[in-house]
Amino acid sequence: MRPTRSSTRLGGGSAVEGVALERIARDIGTPCFVYSRAAIERAWCEYDRTLSGIPHEICYSVKANSNLAVIDVLGRLGAGFDIVSGGELERVLAAQVPARRIVFSGVGKRDAEMAAALEAGVGCFNVESAQELDRLAFLAKMAGKRAPVSLRVNPDIDARTHPYITTGLHENKFGIPVGGARGLYARAAASPSLEVRGIDCHIGSQLASLDPFLEALDRLLALVDSLAGDGIPLAHLNLGGGLGIRYRDESPPPPAALAAAIAERLSGRGIVLMLEPGRSIVGNAGMLLTRVEYLKRNGEKRFAVVDAAMNDLIRPALYDAWHDIVPVTPREGDSEPYEIVGPVCESGDFLGRERRLVLEPGDLLTVRSAGAYAFVMSSNYNTRPRAAEVMVDCDRYHVVRKRERVRDLFADESVLPPDSTSS
Ligand SMILES: *Cc1c(COP(=O)(O)O)cnc(C)c1O
Repeated sequence: MRPTRSSTRLGGGSAVEGVALERIARDIGTPCFVYSRAAIERAWCEYDRTLSGIPHEICYSVKANSNLAVIDVLGRLGAGFDIVSGGELERVLAAQVPARRIVFSGVGKRDAEMAAALEAGVGCFNVESAQELDRLAFLAKMAGKRAPVSLRVNPDIDARTHPYITTGLHENKFGIPVGGARGLYARAAASPSLEVRGIDCHIGSQLASLDPFLEALDRLLALVDSLAGDGIPLAHLNLGGGLGIRYRDESPPPPAALAAAIAERLSGRGIVLMLEPGRSIVGNAGMLLTRVEYLKRNGEKRFAVVDAAMNDLIRPALYDAWHDIVPVTPREGDSEPYEIVGPVCESGDFLGRERRLVLEPGDLLTVRSAGAYAFVMSSNYNTRPRAAEVMVDCDRYHVVRKRERVRDLFADESVLPPDSTSS
């Protein structure tokens, strides 16, 4: 096994770690997601190692890829976990991770979700509004517990990324305006059912530079200092996730650069730094394997119809995202520009446009950088079973989620009773 660096992307060759992709496709079928354990570990350890000089916790953002095997691999390294729903709470607990390593984010937490998190004993609630704070205090009081809280402030920083994944501007739905935070901290500190732990923010995703992170950090630190003056000392500062990855020609700073820049600003403060990276841990540690079914030509356009579709990977249709698509076994010959499309009945069902490739029906392709926001956003549109997921571990691979079966897709549906006649 030849380890790849974290800045390189999985899926540029015919094997992942020591396992041939043709073999996985033959055994498991396509479409199929393939992840590399080594690549996931490398990315998490890069953050962890760089921050070794200051107290820190790296809480993987579960929503990027919530497969139990991914949670388990990171949990064994000592990772914390950032969750955004009661469902993700159950997943992390099912992977045997201690609840105190969990932080609960999200703008719309429901009573039952907060009660379950209190019961489990999560490490922190990242609270996003005054109403949520009051509700949490009430639920904690009812349960006879003290809820550990952090307030998610909205630092009003332009993350300069895609508008759908910008979250740190005052016009976004996320967080508490910086101006209103001190008053709310005073309210939290006065509540016997709440324990003020920290402060957090998350300004967006797929960020391409360090500047927005450092601007946000400066705003949070100013608030930390004024809160200390108010007699409300904070134990941790959570800067969220959001570091970008290379899909095409982007060159976002590596995790080590972000971590080093933050560590420099925080050294000597004694405050625990928390980060919630998602995409930068798993994004380039996964790929989607798909096979060419048909080649066809309509007018000027050439199409390669493959067996993966927008229900498997919606990012191209949703964000106009670009994913590299490469044949597992390249062919000789003159390349042609292809629209790489799936079988779903939507013209938005494409994985790539105008890709110059040499293709034949039956060829195996890898769609790269598909470890984050890929399987987790998949659906059953067109009654397509969701793809299998595989994790490679050195020279072995494991099916970490079986391909769904069609009969399970409608197992919970029912027809109307026989006596309900049409009027
Ligand atoms: C989505 C999310 C993250 C992870 O973002 P990435 O861009 O995947 O690193 C972290 N924190 C919160 C609160 C989030 O909603």
